[in-house]
Amino acid sequence: MSNNPLITATDISGRNVIVTGATSGIGQGIAEALAHSGCNVLINGLGERDQIEAYCRELAASTGSAIFYSDADMAKPDQIEAMFLQAREELGSIDGVVNNAGVQHISAIEDFPTSQWDLILAVNLSSAFHTTRLAFAEMKARGWGRIINIGSAHSLMASPFKSAYVAAKHGLFGLTKTAALEGAEHGVRVNMICPGYVRTPLVNNQIADTARARNMSEEDVIRKVMLEAQPTKEFVEIDEIARLTCFLMSDAARSINGAELKIEGGWCAQ
Ligand code: NAD
Repeated sequence: MSNNPLITATDISGRNVIVTGATSGIGQGIAEALAHSGCNVLINGLGERDQIEAYCRELAASTGSAIFYSDADMAKPDQIEAMFLQAREELGSIDGVVNNAGVQHISAIEDFPTSQWDLILAVNLSSAFHTTRLAFAEMKARGWGRIINIGSAHSLMASPFKSAYVAAKHGLFGLTKTAALEGAEHGVRVNMICPGYVRTPLVNNQIADTARARNMSEEDVIRKVMLEAQPTKEFVEIDEIARLTCFLMSDAARSINGAELKIEGGWCAQ
């Protein structure tokens, strides 16, 4: 352990963290950054079990951290409860939860499939309520905990054709602030990271869908819809979000609570 107080305040090694939706994109980047920082991680997400388990073994070998996998469906509260049982068995105590699992559907409201509305609300919003409810008592009793919700610029701003996503991500801000107040005197910190556009599989699918919904070419969607809103005109890198997550997991972030941390190139400043 270093004697430099700045370094010890940001040291997160040995913490046990659940990351939902960590088999792809931003969540995978967050899980890797946590593992490389010495955290033990329960990786949740959908995908091919054999492939994901091989990936977990490689990540454990390259970082020396304990890495486990849960295929719990974040749309199903009973599977979220099972994931917590597994986490307590495999990790022991739970110090942090990163609520990152998310899905998207793009359509005009009048055509929006109700099944997609229900799924997006369940995965992008209700799952964070369930993980928070399941982690909270233990964190409060221990006097330390971190819940980090991956919101979006769409937690603060709307765009047409994304009604369910915008509603869920705005709702996540409400949950973040409420939980932050409830955890405040117990050493539990709850915050939301709000990325702008990050080039992940979720966004690659959106490019095609938005092109269809707006009758535009895919190049125009990138230039005129996505990066047009982002003043830097650059995609946000996964690594930037992963580093911010590691910082929020540390003691140095003790006084950051109930915050929405925008990492969107100035999108919301307009
Ligand atoms: P992605 O599609 O690459 O990854 C999504 C992850 O969620 C995958 O691991 C997938 O398996 C998992 N997932 C989906 N449905 C699930 C379910 N029912 N149960 C369990 N896991 C499930 O997407 P991404 O771009 O990395 O997005 C991650 C998060 O970041 C989402 O919450 C998204 O809203 C948010 N976000 C993304 C961007 C962006 O531009 N990519 C911008 C702002 C916010």
